[in-house]
Amino acid sequence: MPSDPSFASPSPSGITLAPQIPICQSDIPLDWYSQEFKPYAEEYLALPDRTPESVLPWLDSYVQPALEHFGDSLLLLAHYYMGGEIVKLVERYGGGVSDSYVLALQARQNPEKKIIVESAVHFMAETVALLAHDDQKVYVTNPKAGCTMEMLAKDHMVLPAVDQLQERYGDDLMVIAYMNTSGRIKAIAGSTGGAVCTSSNAHKVVAWARKQNKKILFVPDQHLGRNTAWKLGMDLERLVTLPDPKSRGASWTLEEVGLEALDRAEMLLWGSSCGVHTIFSEKQIQWWQAQGWQTLVHPESRLEAVQAADGVGSTKYLWNAVLNAPKGAKIAIGTEGHFVRNARIEGAKRGVEVQHLAEIPEPGFSHAGCGCATMSRNDPPHLAGLLDLLRRGEAPNLCRVLAGDVVDEGTGFRDRLSEAERNQLTHDARLSLERMIEITEA
Ligand code: SF4
Repeated sequence: MPSDPSFASPSPSGITLAPQIPICQSDIPLDWYSQEFKPYAEEYLALPDRTPESVLPWLDSYVQPALEHFGDSLLLLAHYYMGGEIVKLVERYGGGVSDSYVLALQARQNPEKKIIVESAVHFMAETVALLAHDDQKVYVTNPKAGCTMEMLAKDHMVLPAVDQLQERYGDDLMVIAYMNTSGRIKAIAGSTGGAVCTSSNAHKVVAWARKQNKKILFVPDQHLGRNTAWKLGMDLERLVTLPDPKSRGASWTLEEVGLEALDRAEMLLWGSSCGVHTIFSEKQIQWWQAQGWQTLVHPESRLEAVQAADGVGSTKYLWNAVLNAPKGAKIAIGTEGHFVRNARIEGAKRGVEVQHLAEIPEPGFSHAGCGCATMSRNDPPHLAGLLDLLRRGEAPNLCRVLAGDVVDEGTGFRDRLSEAERNQLTHDARLSLERMIEITEA
């Protein structure tokens, strides 16, 4: 179980392997196993019914020797959104499960941990690496686990926009990078005097930037940016959403966006979003409220959902809402599907009913609640395989995460910076992360 009290409450001691829930994008499981992991995947897929009785002894046969080999120097981490029961498995093996803010600090706060293995998306492991001590090594169980929101805000897309904006606004421009960005974007934020933020502290970071009268470029989630502006009571007319990165990439000019609107704007929103969270609507929320349910959503949801919901907050906020709800409470949660399933199990133990906000058993509601496909690419074979390969000294080089790494999730090609470039990036990205920590802890 997690020893850090800021981690999630313990899961049940027994593990129930629930059926897979739908994911928002389609994935073909074996496509995501690189050569080194295929033997583990084949063994896993051949387990009878993949029930706990068959999966756990199989996992133990690989994980326990690795735990014994590395002892206290090993730290396992997972994000709340992990599918495939990874959350419970990581807890079973003594690891920690939390949100991206708490995860980011783990290497720095645990200097005795020399090998850090994260089951989450690549940018989360990279953030751990950015703040790690020199003698700590960070690994991600599947380097092809990206984030669709982050993929639409690569440095080759964001940099041309920043160049244009800096040419017009000079030092008045400040980039605020959501945690869901690569280290390269966090470094851009750092170099403009900006900071990183998470869904739990975005309002504090944006308020800090406003006090300095900066024109803010908020990257990459337009919804979190807009919701934060609304939460802070900012004039929404003074927000400008930049061109859709999916169709326009970096090929647009400030003139096309409109110089007058840009000059007036207090905050510019990069146009990316998360498909897992943009399915939630005011209509869904009203349906649950009409049945007497409390509704809570994550701030990556659309503004209409945020405005209609009874509560809005980060994964940690949502988790705590379930843990602290009185017996008999009914809560519909709008966020990632695996998280809601785990919250439902946790709630049931306390007499609290939890449902996924999008799962409405009535015609006219077309969306089923879904999980994050890219997070789900970290599954039991990747966990067992990486720990076994690490113990044998044969860990795939691609699983090692250094600051500035960019991995193409289709091909697995990794673009790695030179040491000098990496040092500069680490310096700039740490500035933005440390500013966030300072603002959050203040
Ligand atoms: S849930 Fe959305 S924002 Fe979070 S990792 Fe998945 S794709 Fe990215």
